Amino acid sequence: MDEQMDEQANEQANEQAGEHVGGHREPAGGAVPRTVIENCAVAVVDAVGTEYARGHIVVAGQVIESVGPGPAPKDLEHVVRRVDGTGHLATPGLVNTHHHFYQWLTRGLAQDSNLFDWLVELYPTWARIDEPMVHAAASGSLAVMARGGVTTAMDHHYVFPRGAGDLLGAEIRAAAELGVRFTAARGSMDRGASDGGLPPDFAVESTEEALRATEEAVDTHHDPSFGSMLQIAVAPCSPFSVSTELMREAAELARRKGVRLHTHGSETVEEEKFCHELFGMGPTDYFESTGWLGADVWMAHCVHMNDADIAAFARTGTGVAHCPSSNARLAAGIARVPDMLAAGVPVGLGVDGTASNESGELHTELRNALLINRLRGGEKAMDARTALRLGTYGGAQVLGRAAEVGSLEPGKLADLVLWKLDGLAHASIADPVAALVFGAAAPVTLSLVGGRPVVENGRLVHADEDAIARRTREQARRLARIAGLA
Ligand SMILES: [Zn+2]
Repeated sequence: MDEQMDEQANEQANEQAGEHVGGHREPAGGAVPRTVIENCAVAVVDAVGTEYARGHIVVAGQVIESVGPGPAPKDLEHVVRRVDGTGHLATPGLVNTHHHFYQWLTRGLAQDSNLFDWLVELYPTWARIDEPMVHAAASGSLAVMARGGVTTAMDHHYVFPRGAGDLLGAEIRAAAELGVRFTAARGSMDRGASDGGLPPDFAVESTEEALRATEEAVDTHHDPSFGSMLQIAVAPCSPFSVSTELMREAAELARRKGVRLHTHGSETVEEEKFCHELFGMGPTDYFESTGWLGADVWMAHCVHMNDADIAAFARTGTGVAHCPSSNARLAAGIARVPDMLAAGVPVGLGVDGTASNESGELHTELRNALLINRLRGGEKAMDARTALRLGTYGGAQVLGRAAEVGSLEPGKLADLVLWKLDGLAHASIADPVAALVFGAAAPVTLSLVGGRPVVENGRLVHADEDAIARRTREQARRLARIAGLA
């Protein structure tokens, strides 16, 4: 990528004794610094699917000021950086809608199991995690995703061993260190094996403790403002690990606090059977009976949904985090994403925990979502533009942030990615969106979160990848030792 400082603005900034802020040269006197990106293809991902074969984006401060065809408007003031995007595609930053960071330390285990067998094998190890482990795991998970174009991350953390330290705080710290926008879903489990649940009793909290800690997390960390870097969601783990009382009271808590609700739903046939046996109804009816359908709710997976379930999600605006790789890894099945979209259900993409999706990358899920949905629904089931929309705008919708991120429209936050498509892997594909989705995982030349660079030339700006890799290896070994695996 060729890049140059705008000489005039540079001199002006120097004259005004400007200073560096976040890698930018900040003009003095309160002027808003501009970054100009030109000569790239642009996929806006707005309501009408606007694309420019060669266009520009102007970023002013933390927001997008203008997007359009051809070069940027002339005579812009306070331009502190010009990026020549020749050979690149600009898209909104990717939004991940489901993950479990701590699993970064338990990848490659239970390799040939379905969900319930996989959980039963891993719960005893997960019950030994502590704060340094979760910080390392979160750093590794976030680093890989950020390097692959994720600008908004989320994590669903639901294992809180007694005396393990501030696990949610460890994740929040890791996201802040990397400069990524973050939704932390405070999960919980209170239905241990002795109450008919799947997790062992030693891996669960009491109902009261789970609710108290969740409320405290919201009060301490949730920032609802425009451009917020940190939001909290209320997230009991799943029907088979959470009491009905906790489901109900968690929904009430979230609504009282004005935050979103997240859980796992309809992931496997075994879960469906469990719900029928224990509650006398399927998962979607159970969610409805506990206050868990609504425009402030999103659920991971939703693989086993009948027409009535999909209609209920559409009617209530309940969102879905589609996790194609994890569903394939655990042989859970294929979610009916085209039917959900046709019905008007908001759908985003999720990596899911990396113990069931070892790659941990979201940009590869664009391709996997397209391929897997075609296996179920035929060659017209999903196209490349729809896959890109799921990974950007769809994700923003389910996280409740579609007014701020998810498309490259003026006034929205400058969360965007420049994908390098003129290299060996992509250069012969004429359609840039097809190159990004059908092709190999594309390198990220630049990604911005609120106008601030997070990735430059394929490397993280704010963190040392090698140091994170070392730390994750050490902590994974420590966990294996403590859990008696090594
Ligand atoms: Zn999950």
